[in-house]
Amino acid sequence: MARTFWVGGNWKMNGTTAAIKELVAAFNGADAAAGVEVVVGAPYVYIPLVADSLRKDWAVAGENCYVKASGAYTGEISPEMLKDVGAAWVILGHSERRNIIGEGDQFVAEKTVKALEAGLKVVLCVGELLEEREAGTTQAVVDRQLDAVVKAVGPADWANIVIAYEPVWAIGTGVVATPEQAQEVHAAIRKYLATAVSADVAAATRITYGGSVNGKNCGDLAQKPDIDGFLVGGASLKPEFIDIVNAQQ
Ligand code: PGA
Repeated sequence: MARTFWVGGNWKMNGTTAAIKELVAAFNGADAAAGVEVVVGAPYVYIPLVADSLRKDWAVAGENCYVKASGAYTGEISPEMLKDVGAAWVILGHSERRNIIGEGDQFVAEKTVKALEAGLKVVLCVGELLEEREAGTTQAVVDRQLDAVVKAVGPADWANIVIAYEPVWAIGTGVVATPEQAQEVHAAIRKYLATAVSADVAAATRITYGGSVNGKNCGDLAQKPDIDGFLVGGASLKPEFIDIVNAQQ
């Protein structure tokens, strides 16, 4: 089954109004490959600006959300609010939220359910720490992170979920996984989905790679059969992001 190549930016807690206007202008003027689905993840406060000004063939993502639609949850943002201000996607389970903020698998699964119910699409991030890879538990960790979501959503929901495999040791470190390392985990995730959900969902779900992806290393990664795109941090804050969108060319 042909899977549409998917490239997401994750600006994290970066940007100013001026810097974002400049970056969006660069993206809007760039020659991006047709047939690639592109999503830009922005800090909450900049989502309206990005949603209003970004090229209409690209979509906007929140980088997190809460599990309630509204109410007394000081400082939280609901999936409904993200949708209301122009986001079509939300990034959930990013390793910085799991490991710095302390979000667990169940909470990430609950967020996934609520985001889907609100009509958002979800970028579901999974990935192992360096010590987990060294201990040989990479697949067990990734399967455990996915398991919580598999149990919480229905088979049809996977049409609105993109998986981002992001080994924590590769995020923001400049140490990118080799195409072989990434392909091995992506293939195992697809196998896991076939068993845990269905062969159809396994064949159709985009499994993207994240962790020190840049304009130079994306081409080799993109050639691997189970790498269906990228989630990009640092390089998504630069016009270089376009080279990653065009990785398959
Ligand atoms: P990086 O971040 O590209 O800066 O390594 C990726 C991510 O955290 O999604």
